[in-house]
Amino acid sequence: MSETDQTQPAAEQTQPEPQDPNQKPRKPKRRRRKPRRSQSKWNLDQFQVAPVADQWRFHDFDLPLPLMRAIQKAGFEYCTSIQAQTFEKALLGGDVVGRAQTGSGKTAAFLIATLAYFLEEKAPEGQKPGAPRAVIIAPTRELALQIEKDAKAFSEFARISVACVVGGMDYQKQRERLERKVDLLVATPGRLLDFHTKRDVDLSETEVLILDEADRMLSMGFIPDVKRIIRATPKPEERQTLLFSAELSSDVLGLAEQWTHKAAQVEVEHEAASTIAAGDSDTVHAYSVSDEDKLRLLINLVKQTEMERVVVFGNTRELVRRIDAGLREAGIEVGLMSGAETQAARLEAQDAFRNGKLQVLVVSDVAGRGLPLEDATHVVNFTLPEVPEDYVHRASGSDVTLINFIGEEDVFSLPEIEAYIQETLPRKAPPQGLLQV
Ligand code: AMP
Repeated sequence: MSETDQTQPAAEQTQPEPQDPNQKPRKPKRRRRKPRRSQSKWNLDQFQVAPVADQWRFHDFDLPLPLMRAIQKAGFEYCTSIQAQTFEKALLGGDVVGRAQTGSGKTAAFLIATLAYFLEEKAPEGQKPGAPRAVIIAPTRELALQIEKDAKAFSEFARISVACVVGGMDYQKQRERLERKVDLLVATPGRLLDFHTKRDVDLSETEVLILDEADRMLSMGFIPDVKRIIRATPKPEERQTLLFSAELSSDVLGLAEQWTHKAAQVEVEHEAASTIAAGDSDTVHAYSVSDEDKLRLLINLVKQTEMERVVVFGNTRELVRRIDAGLREAGIEVGLMSGAETQAARLEAQDAFRNGKLQVLVVSDVAGRGLPLEDATHVVNFTLPEVPEDYVHRASGSDVTLINFIGEEDVFSLPEIEAYIQETLPRKAPPQGLLQV
């Protein structure tokens, strides 16, 4: 938990002022500010993205320059569907209830909207220490830490302080951090409630409240804590509230009704799946996807995109057995190679794959070591290998497209692999529609 580097002042902001007929007292007032050109050498000429039909660019939302610079640094060019829809409403100060799963780009959607507001609306006079302007509540420590990391990356070129308070980590250090200025606070419910009860955090100045993965907060039993936290913030009409949930069940919608004010409901539409064609010039993909969505993504990739012969790697016998069963159930021709099968059965599966009788071969890490991969058009790392050498082996086929699924656990093996291959694997959201059942 630390504060964002305050490297550069907020730079210019040139957008016109959109009018919001339902503007609430504390909601963002978009104001034109004088450009301060000398403050930053970076300008939009250094971030050119061609307009494309049916795609929103970040440029289309007139975001403040420091934010555009960070977006460019993140390697983003076009908005995901949930981002475009969220910006449309949230940048005008409106509340949003979004149905969005991990991988949809929801984190950047709410962070960019909030940071744009911070860059346009100065902090109120006499901002108190430990009184955040925006509070983001997430159900798990891992998710909160990931949001904190993204928030710091997006605010790298702005004077915005980010802090994170989560359970299971140094309480005292977090408490001390709250003695200083916090613009954006990311938190898990239990720890935040603790700090609130002990008056270490003051939630009464919250201008933006974000609830991420509301359905998981519900299923994990956090709602009573979250309710107490929300009661300490200003009324729904006096703050902006953004709520995201993988599913908008009636329970979640009921909570959204209580916590938001005239919210717009946005959803990722079921778009046609984009194709990952064999021979695609972009031959390595890294998709951020939650563990529970991985099988669905794999099934949809195999069925909806042009994947001819796919080798899927998983790190345990049990996992590859489940992948094999899931694909089989989805009507896909699949074979299995793991330490649990006899040598003869493994060779038989390998032959059937080579002869084109099987579309997919699911292989455990250990059984896959040294497996010739020249017959595959695609290799999927359902889990990243624990040994970086294995990653290189899987990426070695000359015409193979390698697809990495980066889930909650894989995030931890990624740095070692990236160091070994001396490249970064920019993670992106899976193609639209491929997480749908
Ligand atoms: P999330 O749904 O927030 O977990 O984001 C999934 C992944 O998509 C993250 O690794 C982001 O870095 C990436 N991502 C988010 N927005 C974009 C975008 N507009 N273009 C490319 N990648 C993105």
